[in-house]
Amino acid sequence: MNLRFWFPVLCLGLSMTPSLAADPPQPRSCRQSALSRVQRHTIAPGETLASIARQYDLLESTLMGMNPALRNGTAPVGTAILIPPYNGIRVEVAAGTTWQDLADRYNVRADTLFEVNGCQANPTVAFIPGANWSPLEQTGGGTREGSIAQILSVYPLPSESPVLVEYGWVLTPRSSEVVFHSGVDLLAPVGTTVESAGAGTVAFAGEQGIYGNLVVINHSEGRQTRYAHLETIAVRVGQPVEAGTPVGTVGQTGTPDTDEPHLHFEVRYNSELGWVAEDPAVYWRSMSAARR
Ligand SMILES: [Zn+2]
Repeated sequence: MNLRFWFPVLCLGLSMTPSLAADPPQPRSCRQSALSRVQRHTIAPGETLASIARQYDLLESTLMGMNPALRNGTAPVGTAILIPPYNGIRVEVAAGTTWQDLADRYNVRADTLFEVNGCQANPTVAFIPGANWSPLEQTGGGTREGSIAQILSVYPLPSESPVLVEYGWVLTPRSSEVVFHSGVDLLAPVGTTVESAGAGTVAFAGEQGIYGNLVVINHSEGRQTRYAHLETIAVRVGQPVEAGTPVGTVGQTGTPDTDEPHLHFEVRYNSELGWVAEDPAVYWRSMSAARR
């Protein structure tokens, strides 16, 4: 019996035997798959979807995705539900689908998916860490271009900037932990003008925790952009803005993920479960086309 699978490194998964373990190269971090670590929880009187989510430090949407019984927002007492080890969604995997296919679809690294799923060669179900379950958007974000891309047509800084920290599961420069980064960090000096990526209405303008000075703009088609760690804010709540309207300047307020000055820029879409972050990189092409 050959237990070895190549993807992208030789990995022996859970069935590793002492004799095979000596084969080079050694597996990296192939431990139990996320789905094999799912716990059961029986809903007790007084518990709510929100309280269970808090208890396990998960998003309500993660619990709703794993448990159809919770999707109307209630928590029926006595119901046994499944609790994954961290946020994400469980997906059926069609025969012939590769980890790279899933990585492309969900904006998660292929090697991360492989390891999170116990280094299986041909999974029939997989757990996608960080993907948000949504009744509207089963793909949890992804590449919707065309009319939606036109809504966000302006790059948020005067010139294209290097990405310091990407969207998704990342090792932040500040910690040695893998965390979910809900936007991109674009390198820019303090004081650089930050512009609205599209026409819309200012939904928030002020100080908000780790975001520091934050501007949130609601656009059409259920899209929202967020501009964080600003030094100054140039708009007020309720103000209509055009694509390219200055909303503030780059700063270092709040708790940035890196010490280098940058704009933390997020794109979110509205689902029944709230504002779900998606990868801003999806929009770079339409933004660069409109850059002046
Ligand atoms: Zn950031």
